[in-house]
Amino acid sequence: MNSSFPKRAQVVVVGGGIIGASVAYHLTRRGVTDVLVLEQNQLTSGTTWHAAGLVSQLKSSHSLTKLATYSARLFEELEDETGQATGYRTPGSISVADNEQRWEEILRGASMAKGIGVETRIIDRDELNEMWPHIYSDDVVGALYIPKDGQTSPVDTTVALANGARQRGARIIEGVAVTGLITSGSRASGLSLSGAALQGPKVVGVETEQGTVEADTVVLASGMWTRHLAAQAGVNVPLQACEHFYIVTEPIEGLDRSTPTLRDPGNYTYFKEETGKIMAGFFEPRGKVWNLGGVPRDFSFGTLPEDWDHVGPIFERAIKRVPVLGECGLQLFFNGPEAFTPDGVYYLGEAPELDGCFVASGFNSVGIQSAGGVGWVLADWIADRYPPMDLSSVDIRRALPLQADDDYLAERIPESLGLLYAMHWPFRQYESARGQRLSPLHKQIEAAGAVFGEQSGWERPNWYANEGQERTYEYSYAKQNWWANAGAECEGVRQAVGLFDQSSFAKFKVLGPDALEVLNHISVADMDVEDYKTVYTQWCNPRGGIEADLTVTRLGSAEFMVVTSAGSHTRDWAWLRRHARCHNVSISDVELHRRLLCGYGIPE
Ligand SMILES: Cc1cc2nc3c(=O)[nH]c(=O)nc-3n(C[C@H](O)[C@H](O)[C@H](O)COP(=O)(O)OP(=O)(O)OC[C@H]3O[C@@H](n4cnc5c(N)ncnc54)[C@H](O)[C@@H]3O)c2cc1C
Repeated sequence: MNSSFPKRAQVVVVGGGIIGASVAYHLTRRGVTDVLVLEQNQLTSGTTWHAAGLVSQLKSSHSLTKLATYSARLFEELEDETGQATGYRTPGSISVADNEQRWEEILRGASMAKGIGVETRIIDRDELNEMWPHIYSDDVVGALYIPKDGQTSPVDTTVALANGARQRGARIIEGVAVTGLITSGSRASGLSLSGAALQGPKVVGVETEQGTVEADTVVLASGMWTRHLAAQAGVNVPLQACEHFYIVTEPIEGLDRSTPTLRDPGNYTYFKEETGKIMAGFFEPRGKVWNLGGVPRDFSFGTLPEDWDHVGPIFERAIKRVPVLGECGLQLFFNGPEAFTPDGVYYLGEAPELDGCFVASGFNSVGIQSAGGVGWVLADWIADRYPPMDLSSVDIRRALPLQADDDYLAERIPESLGLLYAMHWPFRQYESARGQRLSPLHKQIEAAGAVFGEQSGWERPNWYANEGQERTYEYSYAKQNWWANAGAECEGVRQAVGLFDQSSFAKFKVLGPDALEVLNHISVADMDVEDYKTVYTQWCNPRGGIEADLTVTRLGSAEFMVVTSAGSHTRDWAWLRRHARCHNVSISDVELHRRLLCGYGIPE
């Protein structure tokens, strides 16, 4: 036991990858300097050290694009501030489409980029061939160039962030694993809780191999280790490691540091110039799960074995785009693990199950380019208790208990990896791990011709096929094949009658002397209405931001039923639970059978 080992820190960050380093860096920039980063091995030794280092700015939404563009700016400036070179440079990137639909997808991205101020330019075949000398471009329908896209050295960038954090007072200790989280209060699992629930379950520190450290806030930036560590404290972070592959060739003429990154999603490959060689990385249509049971504590700078059976067919397609790959020697076949999530988007924010426990993990192969922005918004979230912008698409409060299941993850994660380079069709439905939650009317709905879609694990009838019509989606950016069916259904409801099945909606009962007070405090609308009246309302935070959009039905003088969408089940439950504290009220989650008594003297 080391006697100089810290006993307390305001914030403990678990994990010294690029994410943990960036969170520490940004916390100290926000003036939160009593930060302790604990890394079980060495900085960068998890996934960060072997990343390709691509920094692209265009993401699936405005807010994620904002985070990525912030990262790019930060990586550019870090060296001046910290004295540590990051290796960041901006050769740009090119995305190519080999069919019209892919080209439309790329153009839609370019249109969003324009709105956010990310410069893009359509290039013709001659320019493409000039910028990427070894490309086969005869089948290319369109190519988009993003001049400011960059590449960085993941290790050097992490060290720069860590240095910046240290310079402002953060402590970083390597070689010490966090073995558990210490919590106060009780979890919302059993039937009845009383006095302890007044405070709510809160993280108060961590257990480590060197003893206990008290903390007000703990950040789980522990990469692919996070799921199992968090689960010990009842926090659900459903992610899973997958193998991720790239190759590096021998030196090839014609490439230099100005050669842009080349993305060819139709052939599941990206190509990057790497000291005069080509690095080609793959996002195969079905990923390969690694170590479902958890990642060993001592997996440090680890690599996984070659698997040509798995990668061979994709490599063949890469050769089609860059034929020189089939002629040159390969210096390296690399296989390393990375954490992926069921919907292909990372997790950020305060865990709904445990106050003060923040999550920043599951980066789906974009952790380097996301790191700057993630550090910024998470530091603000911790310091202000609110995120600085709408981050609902990455909020940890979208994770579902059913997603913690090994079988679920083994089925879904290979698909979510594959979807990264697939067509991102509107209304695209997952094919794996389906049928998790069924309405009591499922069989009847199916018999009526339902074609299902998935929402938060629920099978919901998205449209009804006509007699003899195939029950499949024909995806497109134009009207899809179910357009007329949906129209007929709307017409039917308008002209005749329809049955609205709300089984998939989350339902919370709020009961007790303070029920009205609690609901009126968090709702925009007035809940003091006559019995059996349903009120549509929003729940807003003190800054006027919308936290929830739902209905509340009064069932009696001190009894209410909250009905909210399946997608915001966990989020709205957490909001209600936190606001019901210190009140004479009992809240229960009807579907998950969890119940909290938040005060005393509750009528049963
Ligand atoms: C082949 C490959 C290529 C990639 N290319 C790119 C790319 O071009 N661009 C891009 O943006 N991303 C890329 N990525 C993804 C990127 O590498 C990751 O998203 C990123 O490194 C994740 O960082 P992290 O800090 O979350 O995780 P890690 O780097 O894994 O850091 C987590 C750290 O937590 C530590 N830890 C875990 N548990 C504990 C504990 N209990 N106590 C103390 N410490 C603990 C681990 O030892 C580890 O060091 C690539 C990934 C792979 C595999």
